[in-house]
Formats: sequence, structure tokens, C-alpha cells
Amino acid sequence: MRSVTRPSEVEPGAALHRFFAKMLSELGPQDWWPARTRLEVILGAILVQNTAWQNTALALKQLRKKGLLNLARLRTASPAKVEACVRSAGFYRQKARTIQNFLGWLEHECQGSLGRMFALAPEELRRQLLEVKGLGPETVDVILLYAGRRPFFVADNYTRRVLARHGMVHPSADYAEVQQFLHGHLPSDADLFNEYHALLVEIGKQHCRSRAPRCEECPLEEFLEQHQPIEISSPNCRAG
Ligand code: SF4
Repeated sequence: MRSVTRPSEVEPGAALHRFFAKMLSELGPQDWWPARTRLEVILGAILVQNTAWQNTALALKQLRKKGLLNLARLRTASPAKVEACVRSAGFYRQKARTIQNFLGWLEHECQGSLGRMFALAPEELRRQLLEVKGLGPETVDVILLYAGRRPFFVADNYTRRVLARHGMVHPSADYAEVQQFLHGHLPSDADLFNEYHALLVEIGKQHCRSRAPRCEECPLEEFLEQHQPIEISSPNCRAG
């Protein structure tokens, strides 16, 4: 892992816990992931790639309307029908194909059962899911954390941006490096990772914008060295 540029002498684990306590007290529990079933989490994780949640929610609504938030029906639905339902999420052909790829893997490896899927050892399940075409590390970790309650931190853009601006990870750290940093300094706790990631997303949306962070009103402002965020040059790199 690349060396970090953390300016403070505070131990990283202690700093991460302070961040969490502050965000939770200011923003409250986020109740993530917004879904009723494990299948809905998985589909939402695929559909939200490169789009806003509102567009994903519309696609899920269409799938529900057509009775396709059901594994058996989704598996036998025509590609055209699935594509029509997920159109609002953008890249709809690609996303419909990824859904089919996932269902094909589930059928082949787990006899079509989400119960069997989540009974696999977490690292092995992650390895297999990463081999499904269309699933990148961020999507896979959302599935593992929010559908399976397995402790994999979703080290997305919001997470990387906040941590880099506070000097906790290198500004050019990639997805795996940020995740490794978090796994190395936080207890392996799915509930903690769930809430922590959801809070970071909220901070990212409200305050830690990619181009102009609004530090003055941000709950994490008190943790900035000399009240200044570290400048980062590539806040938008994605892992998929
Ligand atoms: S907006 Fe500023 S204070 Fe808030 S997380 Fe980003 S860099 Fe930190």
C-alpha cells in the first residue's frame, strides 16, 4: 500500500472512530440500504452504477410493477422486457446483461439460491462475484455488505474523497488501497461498515463535493489540519 499523507499524529483507528461518532451524532442513523429484499439490494447495486439513486429507484419500481423483483420470474423474463424496465438507470442494455450474467452465475454455482450464495465463505464469494462480467469491486462489496451483511467496506468515491482530503489515504489511492486502509484500522463489523459508508455518502453529497468542498458547515470540519482540506487532483476515479 502507498504511504499516506496523514498530517496528524492521531492514530488512524482513533481518528476513524472520531469521524464516525461525529457524523452519527450530527446526521443520525441512515437506515441503509433502501431495499425490501436481498434481491432488491443486488439489483439496486447493479443499477446504481454511474447514475443517481433516483434513476435506480425508478428502474426498481418498473421491475416491481412487472413482477420481476422475483428470482424465478426475472430469470425467465426476456432481455427486452428487463431492458425496458431498467431504461431509466442508463446504460440499460449493459445493466440488463449484467443482471442476466449474475443470474446465470447464481443458477450455475448456487442452484439459483441466494441462501446458498451467502452460505459461501465471504472471501470465496467475493472472488467468484468479481468474475461475473459487469460486476466491479464496488458493486460486489455493496452486495456483500448490504445484502449479505459481510464486513467489506464499500470504498467508493465519497469515501476516498473524504479520507484523502483529511490526509488519511494518498490522494491517488485506488479502491483496494482505501479498503485495505479501512479494514486495517476498523473492527471487522458489518453493522459498523454499513452505517459508516452511508454516513460518508451523506457527507459527500451535502458537503464534500468533488470540486468545491463546503467545509465550513461540515461536521468533519473540526478534524481538518489548520482548517484546510488537502488538495486532491483526481476526486472522480471509479472502481465500478
Ligand atoms: S467538506 Fe471539508 S470538512 Fe467535510 S469531509 Fe470534506 S474536506 Fe472534510
